[in-house]
Amino acid sequence: MTTEERHQKCMDLLGQLVAFDTTSAHSNLELISYLQKYLDELGISHRLTYNEERNKANLWATIGPDIPGGIVLSGHTDVVPVAGQDWSSDPFTLERRGDRLFGRGTCDMKGFVACAVAHADDFKQRELAVPIHFAFSYDEEVGCIGVLGLIKDVVANLPLPRAVIVGEPTSMKIIGGNKGGRSYITTVTGVDGHSSLPDLGANAILAANRIISKLVAIQDRLKQQADPDNGFVPPYTTLDLGLINGGTASNIIPAKCEFHWGFRGLPFEDMDAIEVEVLSTIRDEIEPDLKSVSAKAGITTRVKSDVPALKPDEEGAAEQLVRHLSQLNESGRVSYGTEAGHFQNAGIPGVIFGPGSIEQAHLPDEYIDVEQMKACSDFLTRLADWAETGVI
Ligand SMILES: [Zn+2]
Repeated sequence: MTTEERHQKCMDLLGQLVAFDTTSAHSNLELISYLQKYLDELGISHRLTYNEERNKANLWATIGPDIPGGIVLSGHTDVVPVAGQDWSSDPFTLERRGDRLFGRGTCDMKGFVACAVAHADDFKQRELAVPIHFAFSYDEEVGCIGVLGLIKDVVANLPLPRAVIVGEPTSMKIIGGNKGGRSYITTVTGVDGHSSLPDLGANAILAANRIISKLVAIQDRLKQQADPDNGFVPPYTTLDLGLINGGTASNIIPAKCEFHWGFRGLPFEDMDAIEVEVLSTIRDEIEPDLKSVSAKAGITTRVKSDVPALKPDEEGAAEQLVRHLSQLNESGRVSYGTEAGHFQNAGIPGVIFGPGSIEQAHLPDEYIDVEQMKACSDFLTRLADWAETGVI
């Protein structure tokens, strides 16, 4: 197959994958069974790990010898919703306009998955000394949840790989570290009453306001302590506060207020310490005031998601390999979460490196440049060349 034919194959496969509406709220099983059939026809072995409801699955595949030290190409199969977005064309039909390919998930991140799968036959035909694995997950966009089952399965049952390339859109530049994130939902239960007699009730919105003030104070302190040269933008752990609901009318003391909050943490930030600080302030300073009005009042907080940061590891196997293959000699940092930190925590070094720009991710008229698909395809050819010997 010529290089041009290989590029075309990557783009054809992207068209196939975009056509599956794998918004995180839906099942991804149709896409997964399409990939299973595709790999079966090439004689490539694979296995699935499911969610509890068994309506979503991760796919793991191995090409080459069944030994440790392989390279994982990792991508998520789910995409963010198109609801409320103004698209110029059907988001689930790949459309080429000029040198851009439009469709939901083109850059984040079916472009990378399509490139990987479109190289499967090439990988299979070679005598690989180093195995190449595919790790395609579900539910990344809702907190990097799905990949945990896949990693657990690999660590417990399979030869451990040496490195993972997480193909999030980085414009084919090496990203060696990302912030993590922990998010929570806090529910304040107060006591309702007529707003003219505030002392007879317990105002849930005011209590929420005290908690939020505490969150802002923590964020301000972390900002003060930041090392401006740590490579992250911004260079400190940041507060997320994106959703709040409370009250029923302006003249009723609100009995309920719920808000979603969290912190995007630098690698090495002590996220447990932040959590303890917030929860103990709630328990010791804010909740007693509510409870003094009624024992039924109170505050509960539950963890919504917990994504570990990727700690930069410039000497690690993943970054060394991608530097070697890409001829790039520097790596950057990003502030969004990825699955790479989960792999790192399981003992598999990772980097983020993939086609397309994060600036187009999650937006209406999401696209990927044809050039980026070609660059990713060429990179995977170099990976295959290297994997025949495994020598850097
Ligand atoms: Zn993504």
